[in-house]
Amino acid sequence: MADPMIAARVDAAVAAWLEWLPRWTPGSFRSRARICRRCYQSPILASAGLSHDVPHQVQHALVVRLQKIIDKTVDEFTTASLPGLRLELDAADALKQKAGYRPNDGLDPEYDGLELDPEPEPGQPFLFTLEGLASPLDKQINDPRPPLTDDQKAELRSEMALADECAVVTGQRVCGAVKIHAPRIRLAVETFVEPQIQSMLDELTNSLEFPS
Ligand SMILES: [Zn+2]
Repeated sequence: MADPMIAARVDAAVAAWLEWLPRWTPGSFRSRARICRRCYQSPILASAGLSHDVPHQVQHALVVRLQKIIDKTVDEFTTASLPGLRLELDAADALKQKAGYRPNDGLDPEYDGLELDPEPEPGQPFLFTLEGLASPLDKQINDPRPPLTDDQKAELRSEMALADECAVVTGQRVCGAVKIHAPRIRLAVETFVEPQIQSMLDELTNSLEFPS
């Protein structure tokens, strides 16, 4: 199920991550009280060979870059093939614009989704929910359009299922494409991340052995 367009996008995302990685320092790593919804048990991380013993921000920066490929592909599919869902999403976006600036919009991949994530949901939720579309974001912004009829709701539900299916298939293709890069990714972690962690551990050991 290889897809040349997905493979090219994954190549570019991995290249951007490899370019960013040398700038990572342990000081830029913030610990989290909560599990990260994007990284926890992510099949992307497993495919990239980054699921164990790697600082969260290093993982997160890759996951977000690759997740954006899935989002973009689903968005393109929606525009091309799912007119009802496209209308709903555009309307939700317009309401969001009215609601003004959001601090979690437009962040760099290394910070995107950190701290602001809701708790992970059990099971495999739909990408979009009817409730989310019907009452987007700020309650004080009213949707001026008439409510959907039952037929429109049913049509929208089936379009959402297709969008969800597209996300699953694209996710599998992204995982397949990133596997090819796993050795380079591992080597980059060994080169730029592990020595910094080792020197932190050495400092800690020294300070324990020779208390001032
Ligand atoms: Zn994360």
